[in-house]
Amino acid sequence: MSKYLSFDRLFTTALSILAINFSIHAQEKPLPIIDVHVHAMNLDGRPSSTMCPWFLSDMPGADPHGTPPNFLNKACADPLESATSSADYEKQLLEEADRLNVTYVVSGDAKMIHSMKNKRPKRIIPSLAISNSDAMTVSAFRDSLETGFYKVMGEVAPQYQGMSPSDLSLDAYFEVAEELKIPVGIHMGTGGNGMINITNPKYRASLGRPFLLEDLLAKHPKLKIWVMHAGYPMIDEMIALMGANAYVYVDLAGFIWSYPLEEIHAYLQRLVQAGFGKRILYGTDLLVWPGLLKTSIDVIQNANYLSEDQKRDILFHNAIRFFNLNEADFY
Ligand SMILES: [Zn+2]
Repeated sequence: MSKYLSFDRLFTTALSILAINFSIHAQEKPLPIIDVHVHAMNLDGRPSSTMCPWFLSDMPGADPHGTPPNFLNKACADPLESATSSADYEKQLLEEADRLNVTYVVSGDAKMIHSMKNKRPKRIIPSLAISNSDAMTVSAFRDSLETGFYKVMGEVAPQYQGMSPSDLSLDAYFEVAEELKIPVGIHMGTGGNGMINITNPKYRASLGRPFLLEDLLAKHPKLKIWVMHAGYPMIDEMIALMGANAYVYVDLAGFIWSYPLEEIHAYLQRLVQAGFGKRILYGTDLLVWPGLLKTSIDVIQNANYLSEDQKRDILFHNAIRFFNLNEADFY
């Protein structure tokens, strides 16, 4: 009897060790995620800041002769801390990528993108940003893409320059991307509330209208485009554009952590309800505050109107298809 007991105890102990191992393993290696919207940023010399996700929950009625409204200046239980320097930002971004098993499509500071790519080759997909023709000649742009380091063109953000994405000054760049089969991410829709008064007088809400992409798409039918920020809040135009153009995808970046949660879910649910669950990419608009990654992934994980398959499509499979990646490389 005592033998049985000790065997039984051994067996139970072995089972619990297995269970612990399994849960540790599961914690160490969550299912892979692709974040298509990450910004490598030089933060040196920038003051640090805290932010509360979903801070755009009420719009203060400010006066143009007074101090501009500060939307970030809010209180919450769990504010996110900004990185303290470029090196700290890079370090935290890579640590979060490892912890949450995320691969980033990164644009921005070239030095940081190279450094990140060297440290985590499999976690970084470099993206080349260009928003106006003064930034780089067309031949320099072509050279940069032909080296093979950059796999993506973005974030293209003509809206911040007061330009439409179909503005002809950008056309030659899109032509190169189309020829080289480079996918393109274009900023369309929100740039944050009060943007024109607070940071960027050239910005125009009307230049984020999804329909403004139609001339570009008609001219470059083989160009692979995803609409960053999903044209928020212009859902009807976004759905009409995606319906008429079979290859356009969207990402959820930026508004996923800044607008009220109910509003985010209503927008995402509408996209899925309209039948576009296979054309939504996960994107954070990861900048300054590394904690935004986990915060934003949780928005998808907690969306009770999405099935597990739909969540995995958004977090991973849709990006595999859109960027022509090999799924097996991520396991
Ligand atoms: Zn953007």
